[in-house]
Amino acid sequence: MPRQKKHPNRVYQMIGEPGPGAITVGYVRYSMELQDPASIATQKRRIEEFAEKKGWKLVRWYEEPEQSAKYEEIEERPIFSELLNDAGVRYQVVLCYMNNRWSRNVPVAYNSLTRLRRLRVWWATSDGLWDIDKVQQDGFDVAFAVDTQMNAAYVRQLSKRTIDGKEDRARDGYHNGWVPFGYLPPEYPKAPDGAPSTWRPPRMPARPDPVNFPALVRIGELAAQGWSDSAIADALEDHISRTSRFGERPLTKDTIAAIRRSWFPREFAPGCGHGTIDTPSGELVEGRHQAAWPYELWQQMVETKTAQYRRPRKEAQRRPHEFSRIIVCAACLRPLRVARGDGIPYYRDTSEERKLACSASGRLWIKSATVLYQFGDLLRGVELPLTWREVIAERCTAEVVEDDDNERVRLRRAELEAEQQRLITLYTKGYISEDALDKQIEGIRRELFTLPVPVSRDVHEVTQAAISAGETLVSMADYWSEATIEERRDMVWSLLMIEGLIYDLERRAIVGLLPRADVLPVLALGLEATAQWEQRDNGLWLRSECLPDRRDQRDYPHFPPPQAPSLTPLQQYEARLLIDQGYSMRQVAKHFGVSHGAIWRLMQKDR
Ligand SMILES: [Zn+2]
Repeated sequence: MPRQKKHPNRVYQMIGEPGPGAITVGYVRYSMELQDPASIATQKRRIEEFAEKKGWKLVRWYEEPEQSAKYEEIEERPIFSELLNDAGVRYQVVLCYMNNRWSRNVPVAYNSLTRLRRLRVWWATSDGLWDIDKVQQDGFDVAFAVDTQMNAAYVRQLSKRTIDGKEDRARDGYHNGWVPFGYLPPEYPKAPDGAPSTWRPPRMPARPDPVNFPALVRIGELAAQGWSDSAIADALEDHISRTSRFGERPLTKDTIAAIRRSWFPREFAPGCGHGTIDTPSGELVEGRHQAAWPYELWQQMVETKTAQYRRPRKEAQRRPHEFSRIIVCAACLRPLRVARGDGIPYYRDTSEERKLACSASGRLWIKSATVLYQFGDLLRGVELPLTWREVIAERCTAEVVEDDDNERVRLRRAELEAEQQRLITLYTKGYISEDALDKQIEGIRRELFTLPVPVSRDVHEVTQAAISAGETLVSMADYWSEATIEERRDMVWSLLMIEGLIYDLERRAIVGLLPRADVLPVLALGLEATAQWEQRDNGLWLRSECLPDRRDQRDYPHFPPPQAPSLTPLQQYEARLLIDQGYSMRQVAKHFGVSHGAIWRLMQKDR
């Protein structure tokens, strides 16, 4: 029991929290002036939960109409007045959502609570912060007054209400924030004429994206059949995912893994047809959106994956590779595959083993660390003149000129996209089989792929995007060497197009770059000072006079490399990188053919 203190001006009388079964009412009010995210529904839910936790019997709501919210005096709040009159007769406990719902006026708060106290009625807030006894304990009375005025506690309450609002939205079966792959945001109605500034559209579920939804379904089917994430990513390579962090990017095995693990597309219960919402508090509830994976299917997905976990797999040790799906062989332009020799990652041309022609033998390889070093070097070489923003603006203006060719491409793309849409509609309505859909869509996609994406933005937008890319580029060069593997991979993806790093395996050099459209102008400008690169066909190419000599890979055997008395700067860089990636000093020493001590000394030097 808290200590009771004598005070001539106040009635100090402890009520004590009633036990389970107490007759309880809830008081809710909505404040338009506060643009309050805690709706009446949120307030009621929190009060219900609180009453349930205490075992109290909630029998009635007192709901204050909106227009009275700005009046704080008891007489001006008819429902509040009624509530106080009913106290002790119709209920033993009254709950409100938070203290500011009760009153933001200190005398009103104290007077009303004094009335309740005389009637031995228990009052509490559903956030658990306040009750009628606590507000008169030593120290708490001042805090309560402050809280009532919504000063110190305002920010805390606001963020708490936002979280409650999100939880409420999720419990109602709606997505929160970003709409996942395969879905589109709802088509919300426009505000009616003369609607107040606080008008919000009604809640609506996400809808299936006609293009990506079939791909989402396919991901589930392939995963259920035991396909690996990277195999699924390859099979769906022309689909793009959008995330808040990375923006638009092609599906990779990591995005596939994230999609596969998500709850959103899973049918909530057999036959209900609706997906699942994972609420912020971690509860799974039935969504209002269409499910992509029938209950049976995703059960199968879970089983397949569980079976795979049982086998200990090397997969678990895999790390992301910065240039995977980006680096291609300069001779055959096929993507190099990640391989490991002695645990050390390489990028390898697999043309020969796939019986495909490549003038550079089709079996060359390059150490991942070498490419990293060279790419970092290239970034360090970027130098922007002081007036770079003006130069970029000028160049962008000169470039964005509409021509007939552009118009032709735009029309053809629109035709193809419309045709694709039509086929998908036919398929979703069941008029054509999936096989037929696949066959026809494949032709369309092939043609779409060969057509350039026409610039549809205006000069201003193009310039802004290029300048913003420039700001990023400058900081990237500085940050490259200390970035984590994941960060470096994000940087690479934000700079280059897929298959946008052209690597000459014979010369062991980066010879071409296909930057993203926004990055191209600023990267071209930044590399001008090196006098090594020239811009051709939307790419940057190493000038022929700067190409290093071809090397015979026989001079550069697989592993282990020749015994070296000491490590070259490049090898030191690689050694540090490998240690950072978690290789042991012994493994690294073996890789370079040096003593364990040499690596140890290198690491000591760094400290
Ligand atoms: Zn090749």
